[in-house]
Amino acid sequence: MAAGAEIVCSACGAEALVVRQPVYEGFKKVGEEFLCSACGHVYSSEADVPFKSGGPTPILFTETDRSPTPHLFDAAENEQLCRYCANYVINPFTQWCSLHRREVEATDSCDQFTRRENTDDAAPDRDEPE
Ligand SMILES: [Zn+2]
Repeated sequence: MAAGAEIVCSACGAEALVVRQPVYEGFKKVGEEFLCSACGHVYSSEADVPFKSGGPTPILFTETDRSPTPHLFDAAENEQLCRYCANYVINPFTQWCSLHRREVEATDSCDQFTRRENTDDAAPDRDEPE
């Protein structure tokens, strides 16, 4: 991957550049992580980086095959945020996707979204008539 490759950030949605940054453990370089130049969102591996084009993801579909999918996805987009997902875990330090085992934002979304059945924090207090 060339440094400064274009991405469409999955955190902020911007067309941005990816910033490759070495990860150190003490003084030893143990790997690399990838940051969104627009919002600083960290992708812990190159496989997670949403490259705009020319990335490692092979293009399997023609434009004709693809066109219905974004259309359907748009309608449901607001419903597929990480905050509504069964795999979304929040604690005092981080917001975490238990499926991808990485940090996420409440406003992230992904194609492995699983609706959380128990919507404690979304349900208004209306099942206790007074
Ligand atoms: Zn971003």
